Amino acid sequence: MINPQVTALNKSATLKITALTKKLIAEGKDVVNFAAGEPDFDTPEFIKDQARQALASGLTKYTPSCGIPALREAIAAKLRTENNIPAQAQNVIVTSGAKYAIYVALLTLVQSGDEVIIPSPYWVSYPEMVQLCGAKPKFLKGLKEDDFKITPASLAKAITAKTKVLILNYPNNPTGLTFSRKELEEIYQVVKDRDIFVISDEIYEVLSYDSLEHTSFASLADAAKKTITINGFSKTFSMTGWRLGYLSAPDEVSEQASKIIDHTTSCACSISQNAAFSAFKDQQWPKKVQAIFQERRDIIWKGLKECPELDPIKPQGTFYLFCDISSTGLNASDFATQILEKHLVSCIPADSFGISGFVRMSFATSNQQISKGIERIKVFLTELGK
Ligand code: PMP
Ligand code: GLU
Repeated sequence: MINPQVTALNKSATLKITALTKKLIAEGKDVVNFAAGEPDFDTPEFIKDQARQALASGLTKYTPSCGIPALREAIAAKLRTENNIPAQAQNVIVTSGAKYAIYVALLTLVQSGDEVIIPSPYWVSYPEMVQLCGAKPKFLKGLKEDDFKITPASLAKAITAKTKVLILNYPNNPTGLTFSRKELEEIYQVVKDRDIFVISDEIYEVLSYDSLEHTSFASLADAAKKTITINGFSKTFSMTGWRLGYLSAPDEVSEQASKIIDHTTSCACSISQNAAFSAFKDQQWPKKVQAIFQERRDIIWKGLKECPELDPIKPQGTFYLFCDISSTGLNASDFATQILEKHLVSCIPADSFGISGFVRMSFATSNQQISKGIERIKVFLTELGK
């Protein structure tokens, strides 16, 4: 009776392990949370204040389905000024989380039999969403020696007559690496004359380190005509529970996508949307967040770079550090289970990101917790080596 497309789905490993970690912490266990895909700090007060005001003034009703017009305009203005994307309010759809924006983008573009190219390693939810749309994920393996990035040649080879969409995610979850403008331009050269849309998931854009500049795919030449840019408030404004994200797409796509919103969620939460206005008023907040995470990245990198058993990759962005643990002799699941059970450090085995022998360590936690986690990992590795 149950739809086989649903039975075929996997549960989200990131959500599952993060929930387990939070449960252990709530039970009083001193777990260092290197699993979480969300900032540890609270939503800033200026956003909460705006939410309280929205509640007090009764802004508790449906909003227009694609979002409050002024919020769509504020997002479009941000995309124009900060990302060089030629977006207008009608291109923007506000959604219940960036995750749902990706799903809406896919539902709008693909149908049964279509192929969606997903560079691997990938964020857990992409293949499952593609399958829910009845389309086929086509994995394009990034090689470790290429920093796990797809190359123009490998991309050109993976494209078939059935390819409808390429998903890009940078800075990347789980590798922590990002594309330079030049690399993006090379990818653009491969897709530009083909009937292929790019879904560019840039949710970690603010978290780019060492003064690396973030380039939006839709800002390249004519790319905006065939790009859906994904972003949201979860990471930069620590608003994961508010469920607020957005997409920006060409007119013909946003017009069609709006029908999906009409008939599924009706609109994103009115309080979240009203609160999000204030996010654009504080230009300093994203800079503060970036600086906090730059420091955390430096601490975890300094602590773990000299662990040959982890062979870690220096994160250029996000709050993830990707480690090759194959030399420990443990598979990723056993590594994660043992380090959690014996040393109370949680991390995510990367099998659900499409690669074995790797784990993802999140540094979305305090400097003290990061230092504590590093010590525990070192003890664990020493024990393993005995
Ligand atoms: N894309 C990536 C790469 C992510 O890591 C996440 C984290 N959940 C999302 C999208 C979705 O974010 P949101 O919480 O806004 O749904
Ligand atoms: N994106 C985060 C992660 O990768 C949050 C959990 C999720 O939505 O997958 O851990």
